[in-house]
Amino acid sequence: MKPCPYGTHRVLFPLGALPQAAQKLDNGLPLRDNELLIEVDTLNVDSASFTQIRQACGDDRGRMADMIVQIVAERGKLQNPVTGSGGILVGRVSQKGSGFPGDVQPGDQVATLVSLSLTPLKLEEVLAVHLETDQVDVRGHAILFESGIFARLPQDLDRRLALAALDVAGAPAQIHQLVKPGDSVLVLGASGKSGVLCCMQARLDAGERGRVVGVCYDQAEAEELRALNACHEVIIADARQPMSVYHLATQANAGQKFDLCVNVVNVPDTEMAAILPVKDSGCVYFFSMATSFAKAALGAEGIGSPARMLIGNGYTPGHADFTLSLLRRHEGLRALFLSRYGGKD
Ligand code: NAP
Repeated sequence: MKPCPYGTHRVLFPLGALPQAAQKLDNGLPLRDNELLIEVDTLNVDSASFTQIRQACGDDRGRMADMIVQIVAERGKLQNPVTGSGGILVGRVSQKGSGFPGDVQPGDQVATLVSLSLTPLKLEEVLAVHLETDQVDVRGHAILFESGIFARLPQDLDRRLALAALDVAGAPAQIHQLVKPGDSVLVLGASGKSGVLCCMQARLDAGERGRVVGVCYDQAEAEELRALNACHEVIIADARQPMSVYHLATQANAGQKFDLCVNVVNVPDTEMAAILPVKDSGCVYFFSMATSFAKAALGAEGIGSPARMLIGNGYTPGHADFTLSLLRRHEGLRALFLSRYGGKD
């Protein structure tokens, strides 16, 4: 059988599903003609998934490693059974199928830009679990289908910093498409990885007449965000408390609702904190993988909000270059990313 561009030839169960929706993938060798084999160094686990695994294992690195190994053994991919999400990886190309497109060769260091939730993965060993960065060093291999996008790791940026930024590259790139000059923008989870990138990009696009308000969960991260000058105002609130967020956020916006709210929180039950503070003519952008479609749709109906709601697509054409160039242009942003995610090799 000819291998499928989208990788359905690797789906073991249920037959007919695409790899993301599949319960189990074939992660074995040999490589098919339209595939790329990668020796994996590090997984950047999606934040919603990593947080769920941390909580389930009580922050115990050994138990977390066992849980990750078990998920991959059961599914042939790292797809968290609770959040459904994955992450991305970096590694070195070790084999290229004759029909795999693109200018990539064995030995190249790459980051995958498609989710681990659809990428066949086989783990030999977990070497280290980094609680502070959501990254996991491993030995193993992954397989990319011909439809799977990837980026060569940049030479001028720290490997772990690039991995962290590429994981959320879709968010700032889409903010650039959504924010117009003069817009008011609210960012929930503003001091996280995608949060700071979104705040910075929103501030650039909203321009002098615009207003960007960031919602953080803890004081230290709020101070870091203030120092970056990415927001006009930073407030501290729990995004699971919609009325509290609504009052604090609108106060920070001269009593007005917002044109756009971006939800990049990594825990569940934050849908209404994103919808309530948005104008009827506004837009809510759910990038968070902990978002419930039912809670958002029924919750909006319940408060009579006709605001437009968007699912945060992980992919936007050119998103990897866009996000890396945002980091290159802003020294403070780059320094923050470096101190949090980089330089630990
Ligand atoms: P991150 O760096 O962990 O940031 C999440 C932020 O949310 C943190 O600053 C965290 O604060 C904050 N937060 C947690 N609980 C909160 C609460 N109750 N109220 C207010 N803020 C709270 O995560 P990330 O990597 O930027 O990812 C953000 C979201 O995007 C995650 O849900 C992730 O799964 C998702 N994601 C989506 C895609 C996609 O394709 N759509 C791709 C990648 C990631 P603390 O640090 O103080 O806890």
